[in-house]
Amino acid sequence: MSRTCYGGSTAGPSPVGTVGPMSRLCSRPSCSSAASATMSYDYSSRTVWVDDLAPEADPNAYDLCPVHADRQGVPQGWTRTDRRVTVVRPFFSRIAV
Ligand SMILES: [Zn+2]
Repeated sequence: MSRTCYGGSTAGPSPVGTVGPMSRLCSRPSCSSAASATMSYDYSSRTVWVDDLAPEADPNAYDLCPVHADRQGVPQGWTRTDRRVTVVRPFFSRIAV
């Protein structure tokens, strides 16, 4: 009398990504804040744009939280343009002299 157990559990290690369209997180690895801005690049004109969070994730853009969106620098010779309408800033950064 042998009984083979196939392990009826069907719980697979494959969590389906069910991230809502408006609940994306900051793309910084060490940051888990909700993203509020989308940063995109144009290499031909060396411009970086900071926009309000895009409705859909763009593979060519980065979602950033308010803090990282403000801290994000640009390479030398590049121009950063902040086009956000709803600027959410926890504090105004001082200009270090
Ligand atoms: Zn962040």
